Amino acid sequence: MPSEDTIVAISTPVGRGGLGVVRLSGSRAIEIATRLIKLPKIPLETQRAMLGTFSGLESGPALDQVVVTCFRRPHSYTAEDVVEISCHGAPVILRHLVECCCQCGARAAEPGEFTLRAFLNGRIDLAQAEAVRDLIDSQTLYQARVAAQQLEGAVSARLRPHKQVLLDLIARLEAGIDFAEDDVSVLEWEEILARLENIQRDFQKLVESYAYGRVVREGLTLAIVGRPNVGKSSLFNCLLNEERAIVTPIPGTTRDLVTETATLGGIPLRFVDTAGIREALDAVEKIGVERTFQAIADSDLRLLVIDASEPWTEADERLLKKLLPLGRLLVALNKSDLPAALSPAQLASLLNAARGPEAAAPAVVPTSALKGDGIRELKDKLLKAVAPERGLGLEGEFITNLRHRQLLEESLRSLAKAHKAAAEHLPHEMLLLDLYDALRPLDQITGATYADDVLDIIFRTFCVGK
Ligand code: GDP
Repeated sequence: MPSEDTIVAISTPVGRGGLGVVRLSGSRAIEIATRLIKLPKIPLETQRAMLGTFSGLESGPALDQVVVTCFRRPHSYTAEDVVEISCHGAPVILRHLVECCCQCGARAAEPGEFTLRAFLNGRIDLAQAEAVRDLIDSQTLYQARVAAQQLEGAVSARLRPHKQVLLDLIARLEAGIDFAEDDVSVLEWEEILARLENIQRDFQKLVESYAYGRVVREGLTLAIVGRPNVGKSSLFNCLLNEERAIVTPIPGTTRDLVTETATLGGIPLRFVDTAGIREALDAVEKIGVERTFQAIADSDLRLLVIDASEPWTEADERLLKKLLPLGRLLVALNKSDLPAALSPAQLASLLNAARGPEAAAPAVVPTSALKGDGIRELKDKLLKAVAPERGLGLEGEFITNLRHRQLLEESLRSLAKAHKAAAEHLPHEMLLLDLYDALRPLDQITGATYADDVLDIIFRTFCVGK
């Protein structure tokens, strides 16, 4: 499928910068670059930077001094001939250079097309291509590290042995059918079942790891809720100050109520502003209050702040009752530096009494936003609440991609059918159908076989020049 045409794009972000890079890939990349850039020496040496001059198509006065680096196929990002031209980052020059390349026979690249070519030319697999996008989109170093591991092939490496076992099973069963009269060793049912169970166990673990992987990849939203004056803003600032990070909030349902983003152990943490909740006085305010509650319900995690220097109030009770059914909840007993009117033990028994019979009582963390006490513990508890698998290492031990989870679930369903067929000693033909069904979704993760629509979904979320 490698295409013959040569593509070109500006690979650096839009806008002015110290440098801007134009990238060419394809069979004519080197020819086009050497035609447009005046160089002290041709042919270009591979993987060596060379200073040159760009003057446009007519060799008039110089427009820019550039550095040209050439990567000959297959040792390049796309596995084709690639030339990177570093200019000074003036958008007008970068655009002109791209236009000149196009006039010389290149074509403007589609979003993600460089990475698509790397994939089509077999240099990376699908999971790795997706990791490129995650790496570019990462907001914290932890996210980048996870994406980089996946870019190195961690996901595929994790799935490969299982795929191998499935292929081996398929091959043996096929052989057993095709050469029934010959002396082909066919596996015992027990052995088939054991192998399937082994794969099922591991896939199940991976599917479950997505709960954590999703948080790593997308970050989480935290709603801080409490009566006025209990110290919500102060706690919010404490959480923000320690690991302040300027990151763009990910669009979502709660976006217009999201105030700031910090990082918590390398995970982006978005705060939902809940200042709007109080007893609504009129219809308009009521809508605002409802929206705030919706945002609180949509958050990944809720933090109820209680003032330890005051007795428990009806308003606290009302808030607690509203929050309990919504899911993950933590309670901060703030102002613990003041003489206590409410002890942690009293609060714990109040929480215990309020919870439903099936739910566990939310954890209580005594804090003092004023003194900074308990903030570490609070952060730890917040992380534990969303990421119980925090102990996981990096190498493909969790999946961060919803598409991967869905495909693993699909594979698991077929594995369950195969297991049933084997347990009932059904004919091998039946078992084979299920095994093929179990294999196909794995191919869609690692990319051994693929459908055009899957490729489309993956690569259209890229930006141009990647
Ligand atoms: P909010 O209305 O819930 O956001 O509460 P604020 O964060 O604005 O705090 C209300 C008041 O309580 C402010 O005067 C804070 O300085 C004070 N405050 C907040 N946290 C503490 C704390 O842990 N200890 C003490 N002593 N005062 C606090």
